[in-house]
Amino acid sequence: MSGRFAELRVDRVRRAFGSHVALNDMDLTIKGGEFVALLGPSGCGKSTALNCLAGLLPLTGGRISLDGRRIDHLPPEKRGFGMVFQNYALFPHMSVRRNVGFGLTMRKVGKAELNRRVDEALRMVRLTEHAHKFPAQLSGGQQQRVAIARAIVLEPPLVLMDEPLSNLDAALRLEMRTEIRRLHQSLGLTTVYVTHDQEEALALADRLVVLRDGEVQQVGSPEEVYAHPANRYVAGFMGYRTMLPVTVTSWAGEHATAAVDGLTLTGVNRDRLTGGPAVAAIRPEDFAVTEQDGENTIRAEVEIVEYHGREQAVQARLPGGEPLHLRTTSRLAPGDAVRLRVPVERVLIFGADS
Ligand code: ATP
Repeated sequence: MSGRFAELRVDRVRRAFGSHVALNDMDLTIKGGEFVALLGPSGCGKSTALNCLAGLLPLTGGRISLDGRRIDHLPPEKRGFGMVFQNYALFPHMSVRRNVGFGLTMRKVGKAELNRRVDEALRMVRLTEHAHKFPAQLSGGQQQRVAIARAIVLEPPLVLMDEPLSNLDAALRLEMRTEIRRLHQSLGLTTVYVTHDQEEALALADRLVVLRDGEVQQVGSPEEVYAHPANRYVAGFMGYRTMLPVTVTSWAGEHATAAVDGLTLTGVNRDRLTGGPAVAAIRPEDFAVTEQDGENTIRAEVEIVEYHGREQAVQARLPGGEPLHLRTTSRLAPGDAVRLRVPVERVLIFGADS
């Protein structure tokens, strides 16, 4: 299979291992040219979903179709998707050039075309001058670029990437992230990218699929998922670090007011609550240190301060002991009593069992 497709459909795809359901009736439509990230913590079913797409794992139920044609019965080689894994899986006894050309050799592509395509792929990942080296002579980032070149040289309809950057150090990871984005922009390859790193998913993807225990929690653009997380779990994943257990005392329109530790907080009533136990979710950057009491102002005591250059990452506690996490350019020290204000629109109130 080769060339662009219009639509890949994942229809109620299920995969169980014994009695454990690793992927529960997943629905997803991927458009040709899209970059989709599957995001979630370890064990949520990301790799299972990717392996089902690749044909490495048979489905327990559901179907996968490409432009209306079912492909879930096809073996991996008949699907012809490109794969990039975190451990690169390069052939150690082959040069970079031969590693990249291997798939074309297997497909009996003529020498002139093979050379042309390998040259182009090496150029795309900026490895031309390393073509004659062996994998052991390359850095981790360079090895990962060989793995990417080996996948894109086949011009696959779909590229599947499973945590491709997780073995790289922080600086290289950022560099390769930009590299992957650049390649996607210039080649327009349809890509499904598995990661547990929220920032990586937001930076790379056109669309995010957030998974938890084999269930899709939310599908949307990075902007949508970041600004409007569907539930408390997605919010936690999207950087809402402070999760205060509160009790909703009143509501009006889009907002709810809740009590915690003798103070009140008003926020966006995400689950249309009318009372009862809830959670107020707040991002670290949405707290402001203030001198005056006022709406949505809470008093807390600074407990831990981490230096992050321009900003400090601070953990503080409410009088009742609930932790707050904030980032601030104010200089704080452990033991300081602070007043913190949060804009109403920046507090998300979810039901306790959301
Ligand atoms: P990670 O980021 O750690 O790779 P993941 O989100 O990719 O995690 P999966 O590898 O898809 O998660 O696993 C999902 C669930 O299915 C886990 O609970 C895992 O233990 C289980 N699982 C995966 N593969 C198998 C297998 N071959 N046999 C039994 N259980 C499995």
